[in-house]
Amino acid sequence: MTETNEAHFGALPPLYKYMPNPYPDQRLWRCPVCNEKTGQRTLPLLVLVEPGQFMILKLTCRYCRACEALIANKHEIEHALTEFFQELDPTIIGNEYFVMGTLEKQILRQESQFPQSLEEMRQITHDFKMAYLELRMRQTGWFREGQEPPIVEPPPSQEWVSTRPRLLTWRPK
Ligand SMILES: [Zn+2]
Repeated sequence: MTETNEAHFGALPPLYKYMPNPYPDQRLWRCPVCNEKTGQRTLPLLVLVEPGQFMILKLTCRYCRACEALIANKHEIEHALTEFFQELDPTIIGNEYFVMGTLEKQILRQESQFPQSLEEMRQITHDFKMAYLELRMRQTGWFREGQEPPIVEPPPSQEWVSTRPRLLTWRPK
């Protein structure tokens, strides 16, 4: 599985190896890296939505204790973002976003103490130790010897899709 590098942001020690799961129906009871049984963990994720909008998202993820993989359902993240921006600013919907890390857990108990500045946010952020590229699943079934099972393409984003009007050019002949 391939890894991506990320920029450093959080002041706290890095935690977890982040793994986005783009298959809404796959719960990943077993870890795709080591095949151990996964548990679950509810954590505040720090999400940056372009341009420059930081979000705190409480999400229940699958977690592998053995290899520290934190598996987040991409469609759940996009559902939460869509609901939020439908109210605030629908033109943001469909923009690029990055899950940057996790926040100190007590922030979920004290919303009144949400960080007031980017620097305060940095002080309670754990970057990820690393981030995997989106998972890809292979078909199961019977295959000829030596034939690799084809990849099952994940469904595209259903909700996190831009609805902004596009400007098309047209010129009479
Ligand atoms: Zn594992």
